[in-house]
Amino acid sequence: MKKVSNLFLSLLVLLFIGQQNLVSNDNAQSYLEQKGEVYFSFSLPDKKIFSELLNTISVDNIADNIVYAYANSDKFEDFLGYNISYKVLKHPGNVDFDLNMKTSKDLFKKDYPDEWDFYPTYEAYVDLMYQFEADYPDLVQIINIGQTVMGRDMLFAKISPDVNSQRPVPQFMYTSTMHGDETGGFILSLRLIHYLISNYGVNDEVTALMDNVDIWICPNENPDGTYTNDNSTVNGATRGNANGVDLNRNYPNPVSQHDVQEIETVNMINFTDTINFIMSANMHAGVELVNFPFDSWISNVRKHADHNWWEFVMNEYVDTVYHYSIPGYMTNQGGVTHGGDWYVIDGSRQDFFNYYRSCREFTLELSTQKILEPELLPDLWEYNYRSLLNYIKQAKYGVHGLVYDKDTEEPLIADIVIEGYDEYYSQIKTSLPFGNFNRPLLEGTYDIIFSSEGYITKRINDIEVTNHNTTFLEVELEPIYELPEIAVYPETLQFGEQYINSEYSYNVTIENTGSDTLEIYSINIQGDDVFYTEQSVKLSEFEIPPGESEIIEVYFYPQAQMEYSATMIIESNDDSNPEVEVSLTGEGKSRFSVSIYESGKEDLFLEVYPNPVTIYSKLEVKNKNYKHLTINIYDIQGNKVSEIFSGGLSAGNHHFPLQEHYKSLEKGAYFIALNNIKSIKILVVK
Ligand SMILES: [Zn+2]
Repeated sequence: MKKVSNLFLSLLVLLFIGQQNLVSNDNAQSYLEQKGEVYFSFSLPDKKIFSELLNTISVDNIADNIVYAYANSDKFEDFLGYNISYKVLKHPGNVDFDLNMKTSKDLFKKDYPDEWDFYPTYEAYVDLMYQFEADYPDLVQIINIGQTVMGRDMLFAKISPDVNSQRPVPQFMYTSTMHGDETGGFILSLRLIHYLISNYGVNDEVTALMDNVDIWICPNENPDGTYTNDNSTVNGATRGNANGVDLNRNYPNPVSQHDVQEIETVNMINFTDTINFIMSANMHAGVELVNFPFDSWISNVRKHADHNWWEFVMNEYVDTVYHYSIPGYMTNQGGVTHGGDWYVIDGSRQDFFNYYRSCREFTLELSTQKILEPELLPDLWEYNYRSLLNYIKQAKYGVHGLVYDKDTEEPLIADIVIEGYDEYYSQIKTSLPFGNFNRPLLEGTYDIIFSSEGYITKRINDIEVTNHNTTFLEVELEPIYELPEIAVYPETLQFGEQYINSEYSYNVTIENTGSDTLEIYSINIQGDDVFYTEQSVKLSEFEIPPGESEIIEVYFYPQAQMEYSATMIIESNDDSNPEVEVSLTGEGKSRFSVSIYESGKEDLFLEVYPNPVTIYSKLEVKNKNYKHLTINIYDIQGNKVSEIFSGGLSAGNHHFPLQEHYKSLEKGAYFIALNNIKSIKILVVK
């Protein structure tokens, strides 16, 4: 993959004709052939072009308006398209000093090295990691999170006094050398692992730190870049992985879409998805400073919610460094810089962890020289190790605690949001199996909201935090019981008096006032069979979501002049009310309804023959079947005696006041005729 295709060579030749960079180009070409990447510099172009270039080539540093960058063949070709004058520089991964490379054999001739002033061969590195585990099996475990493009191992050391168990403590991560030619952090990480495990139970500071924090260290995230040429030397190392890709531009990011991630990136994403890391750093070289989030935006556009905490912790880091280092070390950009304010990039690991993992990660730039002379490695340790330990300690400060179910005391997954403070995914979550959370925070007073699905959200106000201290909270959340609850109304349906052989209906509403789905198993009516519902309601089960209701139409069809009653029974999954009863009553009445005479008005009453009933006031007629209904009164001989009821009646109930019109009638028998068919005989009694 480091071979440049003939087509590309011809293209380069074409592009180079007429340009000023002929000498440089030869160097560029030979670097691209040998290493798959070229290191070069150029004057800082205008803003627009530079921001385009930041998405093309891999900018390493900007100093005194000179941009230093790497590119693989494709990216360099893109860069040439801008016609910018450039200078090919000696690749930082190619060194001409002795690297003091040590093999496994060299290393294990005696106990662990005192000075750590060497670089291990790839095999010696892997052996050293597993030797840590063999020698300190209770304190360190080596975890292989996957292989690189070239099949080398990506190794993590998990460091904990109870290394085979999970603990409810902050999970902390250091990684180094995602840029393969930045090797100082590689040795620093190996030495840190050894320092921690060899000092547990010996040094109080280390013991307390390991007792309170699980520390995960990956000394080399890009061994294919570090051991580009062969496993025996780091000389010739490259920034990119074996595909020439800058892994620190390869992570998912909030501002742009990226190409397919490299396997080293995928391995890291997958692994860190399984552990709730709360703080981390990744080690680089090329410049000397600490760089805190975000990289994707300048600080005036978007600040991390913990921006002030970051400034505090970062200054703590460099202040301690200054105390133990030679003057001038780690002073680029004032020693501390906001990533985007230095230069904006997207796809950095720092932003991925801050934005998508709610993990506080910064970028530690350890040395201006990328591959440091081995004899300078002990100085690098001396300048930095206290700061590295102090930064781990920050993981146990702030607000920490446990969230669990109030009733069962089961630990919970909960979201922990600091009100009016958290934004851009700075909020954290608890993790299982302990329900623990760890939220580093700057001194202050905070209101924190704890929420978990199925629980009543809890807010705790005025939580005091002081620097370098832990505020511990035990938070119990009250479960919201998810239950269905049936409500039926009305509970009695009184149909009252209704004409026989007619259908009447009323609605019964079934409402789910609970928080879980209400299942209606059956609706049955027991009693007189003149009450019924639609067949479909009777036969099928149905569900009512929380807060919703269903309307059931209940019918009454009286068939005789009598009183009826029945009970409608609704069976559901509401265990506190599994059978709801609705009482149904109604009465059948004759199609001709009569009002009983009121005493003292004898001169106006009528009687119905053959069983005379006193009629007074009104006659009710329901026109159900005919378009036109004509009513007349006839005498016993068949003569029409009144026109008053003649005429067409529309459908519905009609009431005929009788008293006014029967004043003229003689005492005797009469017929009310409907459509000229005499149907009721009436006696008028005076
Ligand atoms: Zn780097």
